[in-house]
Amino acid sequence: MSEKQRSIKESVQYEGIGLHSGRPVRMILKPAPANTGIVFVRTDLSGRPSVKAAIENVTSTMRATTLEKGAAKVSTVEHLLAAFYGMRIDNCIVELNFQEPPVGDGSAAVFVDLMKQAGIVELEAERTICYIKQSHAIYDNEGQRFILILPYDGLRLTYTSINSHPMLGKQFEDFIVTDKVFEEDISRARTIGFMKEIEQLQAMGLAKGGNLENCIVYDDTTCLSKLRFDDELVRHKMLDILGDLFLLGPIRGHIIALNSSHELNSRLSWDIRKELGEI
Ligand SMILES: [Zn+2]
Repeated sequence: MSEKQRSIKESVQYEGIGLHSGRPVRMILKPAPANTGIVFVRTDLSGRPSVKAAIENVTSTMRATTLEKGAAKVSTVEHLLAAFYGMRIDNCIVELNFQEPPVGDGSAAVFVDLMKQAGIVELEAERTICYIKQSHAIYDNEGQRFILILPYDGLRLTYTSINSHPMLGKQFEDFIVTDKVFEEDISRARTIGFMKEIEQLQAMGLAKGGNLENCIVYDDTTCLSKLRFDDELVRHKMLDILGDLFLLGPIRGHIIALNSSHELNSRLSWDIRKELGEI
């Protein structure tokens, strides 16, 4: 079934701090015509350089996704991209006066609310949907993590997380991703961090904007934050997958993953991209 491309109806603005930089940033989402894609514009740099959300422009997947083209560099964009994916918005200009979008509450909820506030419009052009025709599987070196995709009529996510933390353990979810499922079950799941790791990251100059409001924090034995879902970790991992796969455009397939990371997600995207040739 064909679908029309979509954009937002009006410009909307949101201010907050970046997760890693801890710096204030203003983000403006603007409507864009069909076939624009999601384009980030760095309004703080001379000449307002821009970079499109496309897999060819990914330069790093260490802890977060970074897009780069010329002087235009944006990082930690995966939750915002997941929101575009879930809300089926294909075209939008994202103006940022810094490298990182605001972290919001560590999930995609603020972005979803912002897009709803802007309103959504259908455009004349059809969406190019990527139907997975053959399976692809990516395993890490030790085989402890994997992500694979199978042909499927729809979008389905099956994720298992196995974590040694006593309060996390094994978590499993299986969703057929509809608009409602995305909004209610996936978009509100927040990033998870461990006290020890956060201290290490902050010593490296990262996660400076992380706090108990925008990150679920665990110390060695307990959870210091109030959870929105018992299995918020696995739901957030699904959100990350949607953000990472957004770089390929809308997909129809069944994704099955065990402890997958941004790096594996990105390798899967490249594998699919090779199958498709020019999208
Ligand atoms: Zn994430």
